[in-house]
Amino acid sequence: MPRYTDVICSFCGTLCDDIEVSVEDNRIVDVKHACRIGTAKFLSSNDLEHRLLKPMVRKNGKLVEVSLEEAIERAAEILKNAVKPLLYGWSSTCCEAQSVGIELAEELGGVIDATVTVCHGPSVLAVHDAGYPGCTLGEVKNRADLIIYWGSNPMHGHPRHLSRYSIFPRGYFRERGQSDRELIVIDVRKTDTAKIANKFVRVNYGEDYELISALRKVVNGGELREESVAGVPKEEIIALAEKMMNCQFGVLFFGMGLTQSYGRHRNIDNAICLVRDLNVHTKFVMQPMRGHYNVVGFSEVLGWQAGFPYAVDFGRGFAWYNPGETTANDVLQRGECDAALVIASDPVSHFPRKSVEHLAKIPLVAIDIHPTPTTQIADVVIPSAIAGIEAEGTAYRMDSVPLRLRKVKEPPEGVLSDEEIMRRLLAKVRGEAPKLEVEAR
Ligand code: SF4
Repeated sequence: MPRYTDVICSFCGTLCDDIEVSVEDNRIVDVKHACRIGTAKFLSSNDLEHRLLKPMVRKNGKLVEVSLEEAIERAAEILKNAVKPLLYGWSSTCCEAQSVGIELAEELGGVIDATVTVCHGPSVLAVHDAGYPGCTLGEVKNRADLIIYWGSNPMHGHPRHLSRYSIFPRGYFRERGQSDRELIVIDVRKTDTAKIANKFVRVNYGEDYELISALRKVVNGGELREESVAGVPKEEIIALAEKMMNCQFGVLFFGMGLTQSYGRHRNIDNAICLVRDLNVHTKFVMQPMRGHYNVVGFSEVLGWQAGFPYAVDFGRGFAWYNPGETTANDVLQRGECDAALVIASDPVSHFPRKSVEHLAKIPLVAIDIHPTPTTQIADVVIPSAIAGIEAEGTAYRMDSVPLRLRKVKEPPEGVLSDEEIMRRLLAKVRGEAPKLEVEAR
C-alpha cells in the first residue's frame, strides 16, 4: 500500500507539511497528523458521489453533460465575447493555475480578483500605508514568548496553528514549549482559543481601533485619562502594554475580527504602528491569519506578473489597481462585468445579494471540484482535480513561505488539474492548439 509522508494539507493557510497519507486502489484509507478539517478534506477525495465528474454546458436552460473540448470551447466563446469579464476565486488552487489565469485576464482585458478581496484585503491596504513587520512561523516557533491572537479563533479556523507554531511546540529558544510562552486572546467574545489563553481581553464590538490607540499611548509613555477604553479597564490596558513591552519576542496574529470589523484597514494600519512602537522596547512582529490555503500565493503571483496584490483591471491595456473600484464586488454591483469565470470558489454562497444578482444575469463559467450554488447557476461547468491530493503545484503558507503540494492519487477519469484547464482555455481564447506538456509530465 503506497504511503506518502511529508504531504501538505491544502485546506487552511497553515499548510501543515507533516501529513502522512496511505492510499489503496486509488482511495485514501488513512490520514495521520492532520486535524479533523484536514482529514475530512483528504478523505472527501474518495467521495465521488459529491464530486463534479463531467463537464456541463447549459442548453435550453438545463446543464447537460458534454465533452471537455465542447465545454472549453463554450467557455472561451463566453469570455472572448465579453467586453469586461471578471475572473474570480483562485485562493484554493495552486500558483501555476493562478499564473495562467492572470495571463488569461490580461489577454481578455478583464478584471482579476481573489477571495482576499473579502478577507484580508484591508490588511493589504494597510501594508501599502504602513509596511509589514513580519517573520516566518519557524521564527515564532523558535523564539516567541508572547503570542497574541486578536480577532482570530485558530482553535476552529486553523486547528494546528497552536500546536505546530505558536503555543505548544518546543523551540530552539523555548525549550519547554508552552511553559515558556504566554497566550493572550483579544476578542469580542470568549472563543475556544480564549478559553485556553493565559489572559482573555474582551473588547467592545467595533472598538478595536480605540483599544489599539490606547495601547500605543501607554507604549509611547502617555497617560490614559479614561477609566476604560473599548470596554477594557485602564489598569488592564496598562498591564497588557507592559507585558508587550517586556516580552523577548512577541507576535500579534490578527484575523478577520480585526480586518472586517468597523475601522477595517485603519485597524490594521494602527496595529502595524503599535508593533512599530513596540520595537523601540523589544522585538515584536505581526502576521495575518490567512484562511484559504493559497490566498497568499495569489497575491505573490499577481505581484510578479502585474505588480499588484489583488483586484487588477486589465481593461485599459495595462494593469490598473484601485480597490473600491476594481474589486470583484464593486465591479459586480456596478453591473460592469458582462461575463465571469469563477474558479475554486463559491461567491454565490458568500457575496452580497446585489453581487449575486448580477452574477446570475451574466454568462458564467465555473471550474470546481464539487457542485456549489455557483456551479448551479453557471452556463459552463468544468470539473477539476483537487490540488494537493490529485494534482501537484505550489502554494504559499500564511507567512509567505512557498511549499510544494504533492499528488497522492489520480483524479477521477477525464478530470484535469486547474492548471491544465486554464492552459487549454487560454490556448482556445488565443486560437492556438493547446500545449499538453503538463499532462505528459
Ligand atoms: S491546520 Fe489547516 S493545514 Fe493543518 S491539517 Fe488542519 S486544515 Fe490542514
